Amino acid sequence: MTGFEAPNTTAVAFVGLGVMGLPMLANVAGAGFDARAFDIAPQARERAREHGHTVVDTSADALAPADVVITMLPDTPHVEQVAREVLATCRPGTLLIDMSTISPLTTAELARTLADAGMAMVDAPVSGGVRGAVAGALSIMVGGAPEDVERARPVLAPMGEVTRMGPAGAGQATKACNQVAVAINIQAVCEAFTLGVKLGVDPEPLRKALLGGSAASWVLEHLGPQMIDGDDSAGFRIALQVKDLRIATDAAARTATPLPGAAGVQDLYLEAVAHGEATNGNQALSRVYERLAAVHIARQ
Ligand code: NAD
Repeated sequence: MTGFEAPNTTAVAFVGLGVMGLPMLANVAGAGFDARAFDIAPQARERAREHGHTVVDTSADALAPADVVITMLPDTPHVEQVAREVLATCRPGTLLIDMSTISPLTTAELARTLADAGMAMVDAPVSGGVRGAVAGALSIMVGGAPEDVERARPVLAPMGEVTRMGPAGAGQATKACNQVAVAINIQAVCEAFTLGVKLGVDPEPLRKALLGGSAASWVLEHLGPQMIDGDDSAGFRIALQVKDLRIATDAAARTATPLPGAAGVQDLYLEAVAHGEATNGNQALSRVYERLAAVHIARQ
């Protein structure tokens, strides 16, 4: 194993080159790391090649030389799959940094499995969206043993602000809490706009009035205008919001934790999916409320 004190000698495998992974890879490669990239989708590999990255056509070609493996994949089963490939392909001492949003409980189990094989894993899910990924300004919530997090830090630093939250799984637990708080906040803004419209108050002055008081929030400030403009574009897709709320409510169920707010907003997002709106941005929960209450939040 080479030293992590000299970042550009660290061989990095970057697996998962989607809307988040590709700009994150650009920041890792831009910081001088020797990065080999892989995605199962040929079109994602092609896009990464067009951006000038070193892309290989099999996961083994990416994983075999790696000191550090970064994953940015859709969901828990995808990370479990790549973790199995890491176990089969990589050398003892390899560090897996999973930056996807997946189950905290599965993460803790995977970290134990990798440790048993003489490898290490840290979970490092992110908040900040595509904009944060491009700017290298993600909030990175990290779980893992302190020495593993220190090994991960130089590779993570080009992608954003690193905060260690606790042992393996604590990063994913933090991300689940983040998603619960954001989703319920979106619901709160939708309900305020819905009631306002029903009572004859225009949503934009209502939004401005609420921003000046204790109802002010990031959601009201940044997603409220999109709801009012009828801009359903993503941003953060409803399909991912549903996945993240499932992760949170599943962890809640497995730990006997009642979360009525998260369960309720999850059902409302499923209504959006049932109407074919899974690719809308998560602010488009407002469309569900427009149907429920027969109102127009979006300007006509
Ligand atoms: P995405 O669907 O755009 O990209 C995922 C990529 O993983 C795809 O290109 C897919 O082909 C690839 N992939 C799937 N299985 C694979 C495998 N076994 N081996 C190699 N490649 C594989 O998703 P995204 O929006 O980039 O999100 C990735 C993760 O980041 C998700 O867990 C998501 O919840 C989280 N996240 C997304 C955002 C966002 O704004 N999009 C923000 C924060 C966190």
